[in-house]
Amino acid sequence: MSVIYQRVALIGLGLIAGSMAHAMRRQGLAGEIVGTARSAETRETAREIGLCDRVVDTAAEAVADADLVVLCVPVGAMSAVAADVAPHLADGATVTDVGSVKREVIEAIGPHLPDHVHFVPGHPLAGTEHSGPTSGFAELFDNRYTLLTPVEGTDPAATARLKSLWEGCGALVEEMDADHHDLVLAVTSHTPHLIAYTMVGVADDLRRVTDSEVIKYSAAGFRDFTRIAASDPTMWRDVFLSNKEATLEILGRFTEELFALQRAIRTGDGDHLHDYFTRTRAIRRGIIEAGQDTDAPNFGRSTARKDSGA
Ligand code: NAP
Repeated sequence: MSVIYQRVALIGLGLIAGSMAHAMRRQGLAGEIVGTARSAETRETAREIGLCDRVVDTAAEAVADADLVVLCVPVGAMSAVAADVAPHLADGATVTDVGSVKREVIEAIGPHLPDHVHFVPGHPLAGTEHSGPTSGFAELFDNRYTLLTPVEGTDPAATARLKSLWEGCGALVEEMDADHHDLVLAVTSHTPHLIAYTMVGVADDLRRVTDSEVIKYSAAGFRDFTRIAASDPTMWRDVFLSNKEATLEILGRFTEELFALQRAIRTGDGDHLHDYFTRTRAIRRGIIEAGQDTDAPNFGRSTARKDSGA
């Protein structure tokens, strides 16, 4: 593949930025990759492992003459970072982000950006429970969706160019309205994470009673929850605070269904349970048929490292 952007600036150097750097290099999609992070420690690590062509100390330096700027920081930090880089953006540059929530992020970034840049928000639906500059890997986005949520009036050519970059990184790319994105992700990612956090919290309380049996006899289902619940606390705090409405809506529905199942168990309504589990089984088959997971034992997780993306 050929170079799509001459200079890509990565602001924040964690799992997603690091994986983008590896994936762009794999296909030679960027003339130069310049990166920066908030802490000197992360910048130093990134330099040591050669994550970018150049690691600079400030976001202002990083975005100078970049034709693509990718904001790869937690959702709650997007506004401050956008304000910081805005005065230094090159004419005609595209600014994008990888935040897990789109409506609030658009509102956080958009107002800071000058008229002479394109703003194409995005979200790769791929991740792991790991974070930091050494956690990224080139294959993270392979065959996973990246959703772009361009705002009204965005130049379609800027969106198309960003789409080719993500495709070059291995992703399947689709466009979506930001509010719809937030509702879909509340169902597929945000609420399941909250449930995992809750279940592990409950087990932790229980562990105090049963003296480590929860860990010792931990079965596959619970182990999966613990993996998800090990995800970065800052990132997930920000996701729930900024996708409040959609998450609360889905949690409300979840609670109703849970009560219905609870009632079926209490009243011995086996048909209800069996019908419900038959319906949910079909969803699992659909995900496998869509190529978004494998049918391998342990949910294919010994081989696939990318299944807890937000
Ligand atoms: P990460 O590995 O924790 O890295 C976050 C980066 O942001 C670090 O370089 C960190 O700098 C920097 N940062 C943190 N707080 C900051 C602040 N207040 N101001 C400026 N910089 C700050 O995170 P990640 O997993 O790559 O996530 C980055 C973004 O991608 C988030 O918006 C997240 O919602 C989204 N996302 C994550 C996943 C996932 O599964 N992890 C999937 C899809 C999208 P220091 O290292 O110097 O602290």
